[in-house]
Amino acid sequence: MSLKPRARSAAITVRAAAKVNLHLRVGAVRADGYHELTTVFQAVSLFDDVTVRAADVLSVQTSGEGAAEVPDDPALNLAGRAAVRVDPDARVAIEIGKSIPVAGGMAGGSADAAASLLACTRLLGVGWSRAELIAAAADLGSDVPFGLHGGTALGVGRGERLSPVLSRGQYHWVLAIAKTGLATPAVFAELDRLRAKEAAAEPVTHRPDDLLRALAAGEVEQVAALLHNDLQPAALSLQPTLRRTLSAGVDAGALAGIVSGSGPTCAFLCADEEAAVRVAAELAGRGVAKSVRTAHGPVPGCRIV
Ligand code: ATP
Repeated sequence: MSLKPRARSAAITVRAAAKVNLHLRVGAVRADGYHELTTVFQAVSLFDDVTVRAADVLSVQTSGEGAAEVPDDPALNLAGRAAVRVDPDARVAIEIGKSIPVAGGMAGGSADAAASLLACTRLLGVGWSRAELIAAAADLGSDVPFGLHGGTALGVGRGERLSPVLSRGQYHWVLAIAKTGLATPAVFAELDRLRAKEAAAEPVTHRPDDLLRALAAGEVEQVAALLHNDLQPAALSLQPTLRRTLSAGVDAGALAGIVSGSGPTCAFLCADEEAAVRVAAELAGRGVAKSVRTAHGPVPGCRIV
């Protein structure tokens, strides 16, 4: 007799948000090959929907923006790997509706993995505690725990050890999505190369207390002034046209612009929603990006819809 947990309901859909890093400091390379990070994540309102239903075999199908660039082999797709992490013999059909840009530095794959973890535990009736879910998320990737968490959070270690951050108000973003993606490992490798060339001092990864205070106070202009990303020079080195995108957004009226995570998406923080709509229209007209979207944050992490 099989002791495998049975599929309990027809289909479960989980919605997962993209992230922007408001602050990203990259420290030294650790013995395990990962860099030590200190980061502040904010979940923003670009969403992927991940639907899981019982099936004869494990499969993944992707539709929507950038679907052609997403592997449908369940061993390669992060949502498929998440299902196997829940049950090595998971027999589920996973459908991903993508709106988060692929290879855009907005943790779309990680969001899908987090959503698939949550959906599969529910569908298969696996009674994991929250701590077990978070541990599985961290095994799947550094950004996956934040996919579950959402909101605003400080991440340390590889970025997987999270604590919630108090954040007041809403932040309005314009996102300039580049024509071609950047692979995260290539951006870290470029940062290492640039640092070696410059014989830079040991990088620091202390807690960004000024930014945390500005977020708690809801001071959008201060938050804009304190946005920081150590990976930005590496992303600009690999995609020099992003410099033009960043200055176009600020010229168009954004408070500040930053490369999101490992890029190449550029995120512009705006004073309010109206300003974001104006900046988005002007940026779209300049032709510096494949597409331009507005989004707000913080929004919740994975939730069943
Ligand atoms: P991060 O911000 O966490 O560095 P990213 O947003 O730059 O990630 P993703 O969109 O998460 O990049 O995906 C990077 C690569 O992972 C893709 O090029 C794709 O080959 C692979 N991948 C595997 N599963 C998925 C998925 N469900 N969605 C998107 N990409 C996936």
